[in-house]
Amino acid sequence: MEAIQAKKSRTEWGVRASNYALSTFNPIRSIVDGMKLTPHPDKPMIALSIGDPTVFGNLPVPEAAEDAIIKALKTRTYNGYGPSTGYEKARAAVAEYVSTPTTKVEARDVVLCSGCSGALDLCITVLANPGQNILMPRPGFSIYKTLAESLGVIVKTYDLLPEKSWEIDLDNLTELIDDHTAGIVVNNPSNPCGSVYSEEHLKDVLAIASKFKVPIIADEIYEHFVFDGFQYHSMASLTTEVPIVSCGGLTKRFLVPGWRMGWIVVYDRNNTLSEIRQGLTSLSQRILGPNTLVQAALPDILNNTPAEFFHDTVQYIQKNAALFYKRLCAVPGLKPVMPQGAMYMMVGIDMAGFPEYNTDVEFTEAMVTEQSVFCLPATCFQYPGYFRVVLTVPADKVDEACNRIEEFCKQHFTKSVNGTTEITGK
Ligand SMILES: *Cc1c(COP(=O)(O)O)cnc(C)c1O
Repeated sequence: MEAIQAKKSRTEWGVRASNYALSTFNPIRSIVDGMKLTPHPDKPMIALSIGDPTVFGNLPVPEAAEDAIIKALKTRTYNGYGPSTGYEKARAAVAEYVSTPTTKVEARDVVLCSGCSGALDLCITVLANPGQNILMPRPGFSIYKTLAESLGVIVKTYDLLPEKSWEIDLDNLTELIDDHTAGIVVNNPSNPCGSVYSEEHLKDVLAIASKFKVPIIADEIYEHFVFDGFQYHSMASLTTEVPIVSCGGLTKRFLVPGWRMGWIVVYDRNNTLSEIRQGLTSLSQRILGPNTLVQAALPDILNNTPAEFFHDTVQYIQKNAALFYKRLCAVPGLKPVMPQGAMYMMVGIDMAGFPEYNTDVEFTEAMVTEQSVFCLPATCFQYPGYFRVVLTVPADKVDEACNRIEEFCKQHFTKSVNGTTEITGK
């Protein structure tokens, strides 16, 4: 009775957002929204900041994927609800697509989600309780932190080493693990680094996970997206022991971020993940499953897209990577790290050589003001002292962007005190 009285005595609306909403935030948004991004009036803006391969219109969707969607639509049978984890046929198609000779999975091992971020959301939510911790890479994709922290899950970051092509600092990773560690996020190939890990390195990571019995959340949205001379290994293909939930989707490889089709593949080991499977099914029921039209088209999209399409996309990105790398290596005060895959390159800034700017955020902001080139400051990835370049840009824009970045640096770089370029990334 007391409670009802109290409720009735409320005199103001005072509608408050939940703690969950109030503790949700994406660092990229808060950093970018806080920047003064006023391009130079005489120079058209070149945005090297947006991780969406469709923005320039230069990388079309595979025709087979377009046809598959039209076909699915015209059947008039996919307008209703599907099962919350996805249609059996669509899950079977994903299982076939990700299976390797050593690692076979079936439809029952797949949960379809709304994009890969939807998959990551489910994986973090199913594995970690508030107060437990999840380990994630630094620099790393910011959404892991966003998702974990809104749940009250503690984020611990392990270091990636730029001088070792962004390999994981294994000692650091080991030190961070404790009894409250619910999972390790490994992103390979990586956003923002463009790194592609060797079989040996991934096995080293798996050995640590195995020793301390911590499951892996593998963000493999850039699977197979690797440059010549490098090879992609799924984490699951390198262990028969460590339980892994792998997150993937159509978004990057098929160049359709807006279609919101992602998936989780559960690599169970000796039934260590049976409760996790059940938990994922329960969580999938919160939003009644992803888009059924894209699900219906999924078998055709995965089976009919020619290998040539993937090859051409990777060649395009790789060419841009080589171009950016060559040009930026010659720019005073910058130190690009050559990527091995994905769609990005990290570039170190010799901050001591640019005394006008205190941070990578100020540096990239000034580059917009003076040169209308916007690169994302790596503070967005918890890695100050660098910026990230997207490699999906048309070639003529790459050239123009490099000219402007070079002009900017030449105008502002003053040789470091000790005369050497030193980039700490701290
Ligand atoms: C783009 C990206 C995602 C998110 O993909 P969506 O399918 O658009 O949700 C996840 N992880 C990484 C590393 C990405 O770069």
